[in-house]
This record gives sequence, structure tokens and C-alpha cells, in this order.
Amino acid sequence: MKAAVFKGKEIITIEDGFEKPKVESDEVLIKVKKVGICGSDVGSYESGGPYFPGKIIGHEFSGDIVEVGNNVKKIKVGTRVTVNPLIPCHECYYCLHNLENMCKIKNNGYGITEHGAMREYINVKAERVHILPDNVSYDEGASVEPLSVAIYAVERSGFRLGENAVVIGAGPIGLYVIQVLKVAGANKIYVLEPVESKQKIASSLGADKVFLPKQWNKVVRQLDKLGPDHVYDCVGLSETFITALNMVKNGGLITLIGMHASKFEIDNILMMTTNNISVRGVYGYNQDIFKKAINLFAQKKIKIDPILTKRIKLEQVPEIFKKLGNPPHDELKILIEFD
Ligand SMILES: [Zn+2]
Ligand SMILES: [Zn+2]
Repeated sequence: MKAAVFKGKEIITIEDGFEKPKVESDEVLIKVKKVGICGSDVGSYESGGPYFPGKIIGHEFSGDIVEVGNNVKKIKVGTRVTVNPLIPCHECYYCLHNLENMCKIKNNGYGITEHGAMREYINVKAERVHILPDNVSYDEGASVEPLSVAIYAVERSGFRLGENAVVIGAGPIGLYVIQVLKVAGANKIYVLEPVESKQKIASSLGADKVFLPKQWNKVVRQLDKLGPDHVYDCVGLSETFITALNMVKNGGLITLIGMHASKFEIDNILMMTTNNISVRGVYGYNQDIFKKAINLFAQKKIKIDPILTKRIKLEQVPEIFKKLGNPPHDELKILIEFD
């Protein structure tokens, strides 16, 4: 069996000769149908971590159950599923308080520290499996994970009906955040995005207006010269943080979803104090959020077709990472398809 293996900074290779996995008593075997390429896959490709070298990548996926372990009672062969790829310890303070995305064992998961889904078959713990209703497609199944990131971000920001929001960055996560805000009853949703094709998609998915990042002061003017109640930073650069700080209403909240990986300097941090601004980091999701994402797909509240910009075969993975690791490009979500 072939698989896409993360080898380190800027190296992903297709390797052959992997055995079809054996299932432990608490595991299931899934025949993989679709796998999404995530921004964090590209991040690890660019920087060399935190993914473990030598592991098969891929944590956003859907497929069919083809085998179940001896102790697995609730999932039957033939069921269409997706998988919550984070593997919590179930023992630490956070896991015992239903905060498994804050588990002390950070980043433990399929496609990160364990072999992931960019291969024909994957074995996973049965408790991480979520069943897909008949009206949720394999494409949607492979999109439950990024949608869960967006749902968790909006939930944890405490967003309330009728509030105004700005989303910075119309990549896949930003485009899901826009749609979740719509479902959550936003008054106005404005978006900052430099790439024209992404601006158009943001509008088609519910953004009231889309601006270039440097036009942030227009946003403030249009919102009663007060600015938005919420800013969702789906990019994670010093520039986007400073823009968020400049825009957000006094007493408002900035939610950091994009990974602020590099050091940056800021000279107006005093604004946070004098304007009573809050900043909240969000990471991951839990099992309940995963179910909510599946339910939103089942209710047809979330569109994915404009976000899925390319479909490829496993063999094309290394070349597509070369493109994704060299921005700017106009790709959003790329799906790897298996027969
Ligand atoms: Zn992801
Ligand atoms: Zn834990």
C-alpha cells in the first residue's frame, strides 16, 4: 500500500510497501475515500514541525468501515464515517473536564504524531469515529474537521445573536467561520482578504462586504465608527493582529485562530488596556463540536463546493505541497480521492 509520508522540512514523499494495518481490539479499519490537505499540514511542510518525521500525514478524512476490533460493539462494517483525529490521554485534568483539545499531551493525533490517512486503509480507535448520516457526503465528511475548528472558535468567542464580526483571511477556515457566524445570527460580517478569487467566494458564502486588508479603517467607519464586536484572525501574522487591534470595538474580543508562529513587535499594545480589548486563543475542538459540525452539514447549512478548489490522486501530493508551500496561490481546500 502506498502512503504520503512527512519526512521533514519541505519533504513529503510517496512510499510504497506499507502493510494493510491490523486492528487492535478497540480499533476499526477504515477504507479511506477522501482526505483534505490542511493549512497545518502545509505549515509543518514549510517549517519542519510539529509533525513527526516518518509519519503518514492526513487528519481530515472520510471513508467506510471495513473491519472492527473484538471489543467494538457500536460500529458496524459498511458504515460511512469520519474521525476526530486528536487522541487525548483521557487522564489529565483537561480530559476529565471535557476539554480534550487542551490535553496535556499536546498535538497527539492521527496524521500528526501517529500515522494519518493519506493511504488506502487507516486503523483508528473506535471512540474517535463519528458516523455520517446518509445525506452527508464523503466530501463533507472530510470537511468536518476544519468546520469543527470554526464552530469551536465562534462558540468559545461567546458570539451573540445580532453582533457584528470581521473575519481576517478568507482561506478555508475563514470561509467556514463566515458561514458559522451566519448560522449564529450575525448582523454584519465583513471580511479582509487580499486575493480576488477568495474575496468573491467569501461574498458568495455570506460576507456582507469584503475589503483589502489595508482598508480596515473603512470597516470601522461602516460599523457606526465603532468597529466590530468581534474580530476573528484566521491568518496569524503580526500585521493581522495589529489590524484586529485597530479595528475592534472598545470592549470587543479578538479571537486568534490562525497560528501566530513567529515573533513580532507591537507598539500599540496599550490600546488593549485603554480600550478594554480581550484576546482569546482557540485550538482544536471536542467530540461535541464534531457532532455539531456533522449536524450542520446534515441540515445543509454549510457549503463546501466553493471551498474545494482541487481534487487530486495520492501520487500528486508531493508536487501539490510544492505549490502550497510557495504562496501566493489561489487554492483553498484540496481533496485527495481514493477509488
Ligand atoms: Zn486540519
Ligand atoms: Zn489529557
